[in-house]
Amino acid sequence: MNSVLPGLPAWREAGLRYFSYNFHLRQRFGGRVQKVSLDAGFTCPNVDGTVATGGCVFCDNRSFSPSRRIPRTSIAGQLDHGIRVLRRRYSNVERFLAYFQPATNTYAPVERLRRLYFEALDHPQVVGLAIGTRPDCVPDGVLDLLSELAAQTYLSVEYGMQTMHDRSLDWMNRGHHHDAFLDAIQRSRGRGFEICAHVILGLPGETHADMMATAQELARLSIDSVKIHNLYAVKHTPLAEWVASGEVALMERDDYLRTVVDFLERLPAECLVERISGDAPPDYLVGPAWCLDKPALRIALEAEFARRDTWQGRLAGRGAN
Ligand code: SF4
Repeated sequence: MNSVLPGLPAWREAGLRYFSYNFHLRQRFGGRVQKVSLDAGFTCPNVDGTVATGGCVFCDNRSFSPSRRIPRTSIAGQLDHGIRVLRRRYSNVERFLAYFQPATNTYAPVERLRRLYFEALDHPQVVGLAIGTRPDCVPDGVLDLLSELAAQTYLSVEYGMQTMHDRSLDWMNRGHHHDAFLDAIQRSRGRGFEICAHVILGLPGETHADMMATAQELARLSIDSVKIHNLYAVKHTPLAEWVASGEVALMERDDYLRTVVDFLERLPAECLVERISGDAPPDYLVGPAWCLDKPALRIALEAEFARRDTWQGRLAGRGAN
């Protein structure tokens, strides 16, 4: 590890190689904070026919179809249950983020969104919200509501960027292009919430330089935080079929780890890193199997950083290659 120098970001002074989300949450809240995933019964415009019907090729969106939505437990009930489950594993956790996760969590009339978000915020152990959505699903009325929330609590809004390359977005049947992400970011700035970008590495047809260009785009945009996933396949998706037929090859573990380090080197030191890999329940995952062992991946990532004696931001502002 390099010696600690004046002016280093706090995470480097703490001996980290990248600005991990856990580190950020501990600093902000003074202790461990866990996310509780909530299903508020949203669908997605890429499934219900507004944009398309098939959804993204990696998304098992059968349950997002409006005709298949079943009544969910209340938000408060889901929080109580999720907190009970998490506390069995982490007995000392007192604070939680309510995470609106599956489908498109801003895709509803503003008054319905208001009711759901504030119901989550009313829970005594909830200290903030995280909301996952598509960049083409945040009209100004929704952004006004998110600003209002952000004035009262910690809020992270997670936009599915996936990649800056339109040809890859077309491949995944995303139903929007990079310009939609740029528009959402531009309209989200200065509203008091954290702007998070979800990106996927290992998309078919993307070269190493293509992936680094996405990192540089995030740096150019000064995105607050990033979630990095490897492309992985789950059952009942077009991607699962293409992987089975050999049409699509998923990234190997070592290649992925090297690429993540390259990616993080190009992000600014201030960009929070919420995730460094994707995962899915084992009985649901088609591949790659290596992404199931997240602790081992984190250790291997640390080892790759140490082997190269590098860190997040070391190449920020330099060329893509
Ligand atoms: S936008 Fe999200 S929820 Fe909708 S189909 Fe794609 S991955 Fe699934």
